[in-house]
Amino acid sequence: MSKHFVPENLPDHLQHYIDGKFVDSIGGKTFEVQDPVSNQAYATAAAGQPEDVDVAVAAAKRAFKEGPWSKMLPRERSRVLHKIADIVESRDDELALLESFDSGLPITQAKGQARRAAENFRFFADLIVAQHDNATKVPGRQINYVNRKPIGVAALITPWNVPFMQESWKLAPAIATGNTVVMKPASYTPLSASLWPEIFEQAGLPTGVFNLVFGSGGVAGDYLVKHPDVPIVSFTGDSSTGAVISTAAAPLFKSLSLELGGKSPAVVFADADIEAALDATVFGVFSLNGERCTAGSRVLVQRDIYDDFVARFAERAKNIVVGLPSDPATEVGSLVHQNHFDKVMSYIEIGKSEGRLLAGGGRAEGFPTGNYVAPTVFADVAPDARIFQEEIFGPVVAITPFDTDEEALELANNTKYGLAAYVWTSDLKRAHNFAHSIESGMVWLNSNNVRDLRTPFGGVKASGLGREGGYRSIDFYTTQQSVQINLNEAHSPKFGVQTSRKTGDA
Ligand code: NAD
Repeated sequence: MSKHFVPENLPDHLQHYIDGKFVDSIGGKTFEVQDPVSNQAYATAAAGQPEDVDVAVAAAKRAFKEGPWSKMLPRERSRVLHKIADIVESRDDELALLESFDSGLPITQAKGQARRAAENFRFFADLIVAQHDNATKVPGRQINYVNRKPIGVAALITPWNVPFMQESWKLAPAIATGNTVVMKPASYTPLSASLWPEIFEQAGLPTGVFNLVFGSGGVAGDYLVKHPDVPIVSFTGDSSTGAVISTAAAPLFKSLSLELGGKSPAVVFADADIEAALDATVFGVFSLNGERCTAGSRVLVQRDIYDDFVARFAERAKNIVVGLPSDPATEVGSLVHQNHFDKVMSYIEIGKSEGRLLAGGGRAEGFPTGNYVAPTVFADVAPDARIFQEEIFGPVVAITPFDTDEEALELANNTKYGLAAYVWTSDLKRAHNFAHSIESGMVWLNSNNVRDLRTPFGGVKASGLGREGGYRSIDFYTTQQSVQINLNEAHSPKFGVQTSRKTGDA
């Protein structure tokens, strides 16, 4: 096995970035950051406390009120966003190395994420200059138009899976529309987030528009969500955290976007292109180490092809290359953190009494240390099993047979989640009708997860609230003020012109 790779010039301390300066927490608190291969601390990071969040929010509020960012022409903001995209693209290899080192993602998959991050900025740079709003007219009487405005300080709270890309997904539309931001990345993976300040400075983003606070969700995240000067909260993470954030934000009527967990079904009918379905379903659950919100972690297979499909799926899983995240041959790397490894392993133990174990089933062979889980396949999993119902967020799949379309639909919808779904069939009518009946925010027909950035992204049920993506992101990060202009006489009924009644008349 090759040696654990540690990127050159790794920082040993990460600081917040507030009002254009790198700073420690006011009280000096820090936390340790570990790499997932050695599980050793490689750096400390400033641990944001309420007073640090206060300073960051004040800087963002000042930048919003005073400009120039919030008042710039879309074309001027667009130029800065394009520069950001250029810089991210030009640092693709370096970013991928850091991301892979910090999160345990295989290096080849981390590279794709850096390119996608650049694309997010490019996409919103283009969208804001093309974006236009409605004007309506009642002939001779009234004209109405929409005055779209940025809202203010946006809190961006992000998870540890594909962190840099997830951050770009929120940062790009939030700043493209003229808001200022305070971002709180996940504490397991702060490394790639620490690159944003330099990238933004080089691209010419004005001081105070972007602020970064590291720290725990329960302290820094919670305080940020409840901050009275933060009107927008965009959160991606676990559904239970989403519920806490939703409750915290409600009394202040904040704009809230929640991208939450999933337990997405991949439904394979007997008439599907089986080869393509096999490639996609194996990739769908094991790519990104299975730490993917849209993973097809429940594979539902029609009985006629079930035995053959399951055997081939298990064979593929056994052949998956588990290895060092830095090795280009690696298909599944190391899970992000020891705590997460323990969680996934505990689900594998639960699964052993809930399904037929066909591949994996524990720590990957040849890896006595690090957070390496063998790609694990459970077949014949009943719908009430915990491994069918609960999000494991690792390289573990539950496979279940079905006979009819009705049964497949019932199984597909039988969880609290509703993020993504994948349907494999050659029958056009079935594909569309089935897709329309699935309770999920997104469906892919005969495809793995490939998303056009213009399409809405989000979930139903416990998978989230609201939609981002394309114009929906612009809608989320702006307010639409309706302005009405009268073209005629005012025609107001004349109140208060009658002769006043004498007291007692009533
Ligand atoms: P998490 O909910 O534990 O943490 C996410 C972020 O929220 C972190 O930055 C964390 O520090 C912060 N946080 C935690 N408690 C908080 C609180 N009370 N107030 C404010 N912030 C708080 O999630 P995670 O373990 O980092 O990420 C994995 C989860 O994210 C999975 O459930 C996955 O499905 C989900 N996810 C969803 C999507 C999506 O788009 N739907 C995308 C990626 C990940």
